[in-house]
Parts: sequence; C-alpha cells; structure tokens
Amino acid sequence: MSSEIPAPKEAQPAKVFAGAVYECVRCGTRTTQEELSRLPEVKCICGYRVFKKSRPSVVKQIKAV
Ligand SMILES: [Zn+2]
Repeated sequence: MSSEIPAPKEAQPAKVFAGAVYECVRCGTRTTQEELSRLPEVKCICGYRVFKKSRPSVVKQIKAV
C-alpha cells in the first residue's frame, strides 16, 4: 500500500495590485500606480498631488468557499 503524501502548497505571497487606479481629486485624471511609480514624485499632470484610490470598473467578487 503506497500512500503518497501530497506536497504542501507553497504559500503564496500577497498579491500586489499593480493595476490599482488612482484618480486626481482635482481634474479627475486617472492614472495607475505603475505610472505613478515611474515618476520622480507622485503628481498629476495638472500639478495636483492629491489622489484618491479608484477601483477599476471591472471588479470580480470571489467568495471564499
Ligand atoms: Zn489632476
């Protein structure tokens, strides 16, 4: 009788939402965190530096079973 023990699943690192969308509270221009990270400083094209996090339009809800 051979009972193989399944290998334990590797712990997955926390998912980084690179596609997080930020919206300028002044002009409403949307930009991604990826774009912002490329800039020397977090700043909108209009010069404003206050962003609010905006969820992408496509949101899938996954319920844990
Ligand atoms: Zn702006």
